[in-house]
Amino acid sequence: MATLGAHHKDGEGDGVIKRCEQHTCGGLFLDTSRGRRRRWCSMATCGNKVKKANLKSHLKTPSANG
Ligand SMILES: [Zn+2]
Repeated sequence: MATLGAHHKDGEGDGVIKRCEQHTCGGLFLDTSRGRRRRWCSMATCGNKVKKANLKSHLKTPSANG
């Protein structure tokens, strides 16, 4: 029996290439999150942008401001 020096962990360490959902970015990133559910190249930048945009569109302004 031969034993390999390097041992690969199954499921982790590997990822899937995805495209950032932030349309002004559109960059590729490696999604290594569990369940491969990441949507943006960076949560701190693109993720926040999208979240803020969604929040704005979600809020309804009862009266127009000027
Ligand atoms: Zn991005």
